[in-house]
Amino acid sequence: MMLDYNSLLLALGVSAACLAVTLMGSWIVRRAETVLLTATVGLVLVVSGIFVYSAYVNTPETWLGVANFVLFHAGFATIWGAGRQFLTGRPSVPAIAIRALAAMVFSVVPMLLGYDGLAFIADNIAIALLLFATARQYWLARAEAPAPLLGITALYTLTAISFVLCAAVLISDGKLVLGKAPSNWAEDLSLAVCIAGMTGIGALSLALHQWRLAARHRLEAITDPLTGLLNRRALFDEYGTRPMGNTTAVIVFDIDHFKSVNDRFGHAVGDSVIRAFAAELAAHCRAGDIAARLGGEEFALVLKEIMPGRAELAAERIRRAFEAREIQIDNEVLTCTVSVGVAPGRSNSLDFDAMLSAADKALYVAKRGGRNRVELAGHLQAIPSRTAS
Ligand code: GH3
Ligand code: MG
Ligand code: MG
Repeated sequence: MMLDYNSLLLALGVSAACLAVTLMGSWIVRRAETVLLTATVGLVLVVSGIFVYSAYVNTPETWLGVANFVLFHAGFATIWGAGRQFLTGRPSVPAIAIRALAAMVFSVVPMLLGYDGLAFIADNIAIALLLFATARQYWLARAEAPAPLLGITALYTLTAISFVLCAAVLISDGKLVLGKAPSNWAEDLSLAVCIAGMTGIGALSLALHQWRLAARHRLEAITDPLTGLLNRRALFDEYGTRPMGNTTAVIVFDIDHFKSVNDRFGHAVGDSVIRAFAAELAAHCRAGDIAARLGGEEFALVLKEIMPGRAELAAERIRRAFEAREIQIDNEVLTCTVSVGVAPGRSNSLDFDAMLSAADKALYVAKRGGRNRVELAGHLQAIPSRTAS
């Protein structure tokens, strides 16, 4: 053999340490991504465990064995925690601690009692279970990015199987006391699998992290941060200048006397009113409808596959709902109204820009006509909108 077991073990430790540094670097750039920190902590524990194990291979003293178990089980439990956090978005320290402690108890106790053979069987089984559980987290998350996530799942599973084999060989040997680190074909195989698995998992995890960031940036670029609705750019990107088809309607909304809300109650209250209207708009959206904030207190709603006459009714429903909505401001209740312009689908289909400006013209008429009303573009006939109040 060109390289002995211990040299390969140290090589694994060094490359795992490099991966830990890379992960920590990514975390420092983006502190909010605490999943990177969790993974870094896990790796640092495992790396420390590898170096301690290397010392145990040379001098099999009980305390080194115990230290190795403690570091490995804390490390693999934390790596499981990183997978869990990747899936759920939340760190879960107690869940990590319970798994780490359970794994430790089953291996540390026999080690302290002198049954190191039994201890290594428990150690291998515990690590295998933690790795299977880690694989499961990425399997459950696979929809987000199937290729890298299935790759990670497969590599964790393979690594777990290599630890099962180590346990199986020790069990079939049946020695409760070894007096040294286990040494057999399964150990050699497991080390090779760990080197390959860790390298692959490291590369895929970093790729996955970049992928997630890019997806988030794409989402941020099309989202209005105040309301969570689509922004103006997203709306224009979606519809551009192609004809809209004659069953699509465009509705624009502008909150009435909004400047005076800002003036009387302040900008923050103005923002709450904008959010309240956005919530109303979102609540009235059916699947396929697109609601966007055009800017300020102006919004657009695009309704597809809409029957003639329906767009005006939808607009009127929203106007009436917003008029009735009580907006809670500290210890006051505020109500506001909105004016609406509707460009319904028509026989000669227009492009999006033209429909939006038709709706805008109708909105202008609604404002001039006294606000809190819906106007229809084209024939510009008023909707019987005002309810007795
Ligand atoms: P009208 O009934 O004619 O629409 O009267 P208005 O006062 O609502 O007039 P206009 O639509 O021109 O008012 C827009 C105001 O919205 C002007 C600006 O100060 C305010 N505004 C724009 N963006 C924001 C925002 O993000 N937050 C807050 N609080 N105010 C905004
Ligand atoms: Mg306005
Ligand atoms: Mg306004």
